[in-house]
Amino acid sequence: MNNIYPDRLVQARALRKVKAIDLASALHWTPVRLSRTETSPRADISDAELDIIVDTLNFPRAFFMRPPAPELMYGGILHRRTKRTNKTELTYWDELARHVADFALDLHSLRSLPPVMLPTVDHREPVQASAAEVRKRLGLAPAEPIDNLILRCELAGVVVVHRQPAFSNASPSAGRFYGSSAWLRGRDRLAPLPVILLNSIDSWERLRLTVGHELGHLVCHTQSRPADDNEMETQAFSFASELLAPIRYVAQELPSRPTLNSLLPIKQKWGISIGALLKHFHANYALDTDVVEALQKQLYTRRNPRTGKTWGATEPGYDERPVESLACWIHG
Ligand SMILES: [Zn+2]
Repeated sequence: MNNIYPDRLVQARALRKVKAIDLASALHWTPVRLSRTETSPRADISDAELDIIVDTLNFPRAFFMRPPAPELMYGGILHRRTKRTNKTELTYWDELARHVADFALDLHSLRSLPPVMLPTVDHREPVQASAAEVRKRLGLAPAEPIDNLILRCELAGVVVVHRQPAFSNASPSAGRFYGSSAWLRGRDRLAPLPVILLNSIDSWERLRLTVGHELGHLVCHTQSRPADDNEMETQAFSFASELLAPIRYVAQELPSRPTLNSLLPIKQKWGISIGALLKHFHANYALDTDVVEALQKQLYTRRNPRTGKTWGATEPGYDERPVESLACWIHG
């Protein structure tokens, strides 16, 4: 007999996207028996059953003997979900966040992770104030463009993981959403651990904006959240733009009659897409609606001759900066 932690069974099944009914059938169990086992704190299972579980879920035996992975805190992951994102997909990302935190805390026991510097604030705080505070905690001067946002996050104790494109392309989750984030309970009185998961992004502009957006959720939507999901998403994007390009400074660089070309040096200096800049200027009353709409129209109708896509898809400057790399890559 083997005394397992069924939480690990639930986790392995979610990460491999194996349905309960399929595992139950492989084990010659009724679905009720599997469900009862999965909801128990501990369970005794035979060697033969554990072999089937190990084969079906492709996790080592020792995995099922480990105490449960860290829990998601503060209401769990904030998914930017589409209508097509189903429960299997959401559970997958929840369990991936727990798996990543588990792994990071194992590393921490060998070599300390950087202390967590990220604050949490009330969501009613203006994003300019919250972003300014985060810039300070990331060790940035108020008017300093961010050279490598991921590195800054990692040094401030945020665990960042980027799925390899090969895995994302093979998975039905490819393209569903760009990122997720959550706070996970630390082990042994360790402070909660912030985790950002990125789903295979190959554009430097999108990567930086997504990391900023997820930081916005971790900082602004932990203590409290707007009741409306769309408002929460808009706030996370405003936070990301303000973090990358503080409006106080970036507005001073705005030409009096902006064109897509004249916005390019601003994009390059601050490392933020023209698409995001236009929304940022508009939201902060630095550009009028008709000017923003005219520029957006150009962005989404003109084609980039080098890529054949619209400038909105591959903007000017899309290939002038590398996609930021990470310290930690994960398979699966
Ligand atoms: Zn979001």
